[in-house]
Amino acid sequence: MLSEKQQNSLTLSRRAFLKGLTGTAAGIGLSQIFNPTLISAMTKGLETHPVLWIQGQGCTGCSVSLLNSVEPTIKKILLEIISLQYHPTVMASEGETALENMYRVAKEYKGKFSLAVEGAIPMAADGKYCISGELNHKEITMLEMTKELGEMAGSVLALGTCASYGGIPAAKGNLTEATSVSGVFKKFGIKTPVVNIPGCPPHPDWIVGSIAHLLTKGIPEVDENGRPLLFFGENIHENCPYLEYFDQDIFSATFTQKKGCRMEIGCKGPDVYADCFKRRWNNGMNWCVENAVCIGCVEPGFPDASSPFYEKA
Ligand code: SF4
Ligand code: SF4
Repeated sequence: MLSEKQQNSLTLSRRAFLKGLTGTAAGIGLSQIFNPTLISAMTKGLETHPVLWIQGQGCTGCSVSLLNSVEPTIKKILLEIISLQYHPTVMASEGETALENMYRVAKEYKGKFSLAVEGAIPMAADGKYCISGELNHKEITMLEMTKELGEMAGSVLALGTCASYGGIPAAKGNLTEATSVSGVFKKFGIKTPVVNIPGCPPHPDWIVGSIAHLLTKGIPEVDENGRPLLFFGENIHENCPYLEYFDQDIFSATFTQKKGCRMEIGCKGPDVYADCFKRRWNNGMNWCVENAVCIGCVEPGFPDASSPFYEKA
């Protein structure tokens, strides 16, 4: 159970949380989620639905993307409002104390908490390529932690392309046998539902929106690659503002040539499903195709299927 102090802090901050989420929702077409009935459900969900966030083979870019996004709102959401009980990068606690608390929460909220996994999971050498902590003088590998918590969780969010599909750690060579969450679950027969939120890194709205969906409406509808259709249901190319140039066979030869489709310089948009063209990045300032090309960071084959990034597909 949450302490009285934690409960009070949740109560005090919840208004700001809902306000922040509603703001995000307006921009992402999620406003239908935020009616009074669902807000009430979400409020209840916050008290009963802790989130444990663990990290494996990755660059922590998914956390950074989220924390830097709409500062300070997202940071406030993560640190003060979502019942985030474990996060290796941002939590104040460390070592055995943090791990003990994490396992205590997992036991107390068994079948209810959400596990957020950032980074791939190395399977080679019994998982010894990634040690996530130590309890009672025993190392805990990321593989063990993912299996144990994954079995206890009510749902799992695989955050970023590494956790969703293997990503960069699983690129050609892959000595560590870097594996996605779904890959680990398949191998060990773990049935907990997994929602993939790919992206290198994932857009903060995709993470917040998916957590909001989990709290209010349950597991979102996903495509054949396990991604919420809400965010990954549309093709980049078909919705690209440069499509008119493509249709007229006008192609940019360099990154600074603005009038022209970017296909000749490597754009992978035709094979990519994500809503970056309308959501945009950096608080709506720009998006990849405007400054460079889409490298297909949300697709299961990334990065090998997109390499070289700046060569025509
Ligand atoms: S820039 Fe990329 S996504 Fe846009 S029209 Fe050209 S190939 Fe398609
Ligand atoms: S535009 Fe392409 S490369 Fe950029 S974030 Fe979206 S899917 Fe990834």
